[in-house]
Amino acid sequence: MTLDPRIPDGPLDKKWESAKFKNQLVNPANKRKFDVIVVGTGLAGAAAAASLGELGYNVKAFTIHDSPRRAHSIAAQGGINAAKNYQNDGDSVHRLFYDTVKGGDFRSREANVHRLAEVSVNIIDQCVAQGVPFAREYGGLLANRSFGGAQVSRTFYARGQTGQQLLLGAYSALSRQIKAGTVTMYNRHEMLELVVVDGHARGIVTRNLLTGEISSHSAHTVLLCTGGYSNVYFLSTNGRGCNVTAGWRCHRKGAMFANPCYTQIHPTCIPQAGDHQSKLTLMSESLRNDGRVWVPKKKDETRAPKDIPESDRDYYLERIYPAFGNLVPRDIASRAAKAVCDEGYGLGQTGNAVYLDFAEAISRLGRDAVETRYGNLFEMYGRISGDDPYQTPMKIYPAPHYTMGGLWVDYNLMSTVPGLFVLGEANFSDHGANRLGASALMQGLADGYFVIPNTVCDYLAGFLNTTVDHSHAAFSDAVNDAKEKTQKMLDCKGKRTVDDLHRSLGKIMWDRCGMTRDKAGLEQAIKEIPALREEFHATVNIPGSGKDVNQTLERAGRVADFFELGELMCRDALNREESCGGHFRTEHQTEEGAAKRDDDDYMYVAAWDYNGPDTPQTLHKEILEYEVVKPSTRSYK
Ligand SMILES: Cc1cc2nc3c(=O)[nH]c(=O)nc-3n(C[C@H](O)[C@H](O)[C@H](O)COP(=O)(O)OP(=O)(O)OC[C@H]3O[C@@H](n4cnc5c(N)ncnc54)[C@H](O)[C@@H]3O)c2cc1C
Repeated sequence: MTLDPRIPDGPLDKKWESAKFKNQLVNPANKRKFDVIVVGTGLAGAAAAASLGELGYNVKAFTIHDSPRRAHSIAAQGGINAAKNYQNDGDSVHRLFYDTVKGGDFRSREANVHRLAEVSVNIIDQCVAQGVPFAREYGGLLANRSFGGAQVSRTFYARGQTGQQLLLGAYSALSRQIKAGTVTMYNRHEMLELVVVDGHARGIVTRNLLTGEISSHSAHTVLLCTGGYSNVYFLSTNGRGCNVTAGWRCHRKGAMFANPCYTQIHPTCIPQAGDHQSKLTLMSESLRNDGRVWVPKKKDETRAPKDIPESDRDYYLERIYPAFGNLVPRDIASRAAKAVCDEGYGLGQTGNAVYLDFAEAISRLGRDAVETRYGNLFEMYGRISGDDPYQTPMKIYPAPHYTMGGLWVDYNLMSTVPGLFVLGEANFSDHGANRLGASALMQGLADGYFVIPNTVCDYLAGFLNTTVDHSHAAFSDAVNDAKEKTQKMLDCKGKRTVDDLHRSLGKIMWDRCGMTRDKAGLEQAIKEIPALREEFHATVNIPGSGKDVNQTLERAGRVADFFELGELMCRDALNREESCGGHFRTEHQTEEGAAKRDDDDYMYVAAWDYNGPDTPQTLHKEILEYEVVKPSTRSYK
């Protein structure tokens, strides 16, 4: 099969305009004849459901949460990028596009990234109109700060709660449509299957998480907005409910999974304290605007940080990368932290921590200014660690955070199953092998507010005055499949808990397919994971029944999918015999220990086609072409 990204012709900066003109439209009176299912109501899903509802489509929106406000998007702290150039510091659409392509280590699709940079400016206008309380300068313009991989300040923020404020904006827009009757909201419903009729996505199967009822829903198209899969590592900065289930079940029905091994390990998280933890906490990258990262120059240093003089400190990011300093991209900052810790300079009992120090910023700006910028993050750190970051540096270490991989989509965000669109973190789209900070919120909202309303019509226009036959056997078959799988897990009555098995998988993934990878480790993982998956299905213990609220049952279904995904991630990482962005193969590094790409052999998107649970997926390649930004060795020095 040839993957066709359907990139519009013409110059890069005119492609989106030309796509909008060439795409078929659905006239306003016809929109209400179409049913649209939106799965997931985080930033991408809420934005899409609200926008399509406002346009007049009949939308049914589903979330596993009790309210769209609970989506993991709410956790986003630091900010959202946009090429407004309010700072007058040299920013432009082209620079945001360039930074993102370079930040992704030349493994993203140019046309998508340019569109993202173009619509970034509209997002801010839309959010301001909704009342999102972005921070402002003394003159009233919106304030900006910097994020990694950029030398300009283009990140809009609302203290350390940007995701929450953006989600409240999207949720308000969604609520308006629910009231208007264009959107029907299904809270506490988990998508378990995609229904495909005659090769087209025509519905989903859900389990009502309160009553256990498994039922099907039909529509002319399905939009998947179900977030990322970092929880495959068990410990991550993601909300505990984040999962791959919806995406994986679509993969099983023919949607190709792209670049699954591209995961982002975020450099500034509160280090793991022990084996019984279920969650890791992010300390936003925005903190690196003012916080300075360092380790003692002496191994096994026992002095308190305040007693270590400047001459005995190694501000290693500022030393190695003078041009970008503490704001190098995440993949680079994470590997640098790992390197100093591996060399024996790490802090504390585990040796897996470095300092993030605000003493200089507090003395320069004053405590109040630092509190205004980062108050809630400092409070969170203090509560978790017991230390006061105004008095003593934070301790941080990298942790799984974001997944650049996801379901493959074309320029219109349609997957390889016609009629199935994928938005936000759930698709592989725009970030290549490494995502720059503050660009996930941008992408989710770009997809939901601005891209999908202009592309889904092109697909739907071909089905005007057609109805979806809900009595088609594909619906009852999918319901029966979901019921059977659920019952099988309940019947197992083994000895191991879901979390115990998930933790074992997470350890394999972190050790073998984490911050660094190598051939031997990946081959080992590809042997270990299927064995553990079998053990899962033979020994998992799920108390209770499927007839009411059963969170263990919910988690079991998601972990079962993580086992299959984890194996594919390792296969993808094994296939990619190069280092790029967050994918670091130790065999492929420069003399200085930097990532060594192989553009001749690997400048492609790896899209994997499902062949059944016990047969490896087939690899398809979308060759990447760079017309405007010529690939070069990334340098932040
Ligand atoms: C701690 C933290 C801080 C971050 N800070 C920033 C930041 O400052 N700037 C930035 O740009 N990015 C940040 N990110 C990344 C960003 O928050 C996410 O990438 C983004 O919010 C994802 O949005 P989404 O809409 O794609 O998915 P989500 O917000 O994860 O929403 C997924 C939705 O899908 C639903 N769902 C999932 N599975 C199912 C299913 N099977 N059936 C039904 N519904 C389902 C959920 O209920 C939810 O509604 C941060 C991430 C983390 C973890």
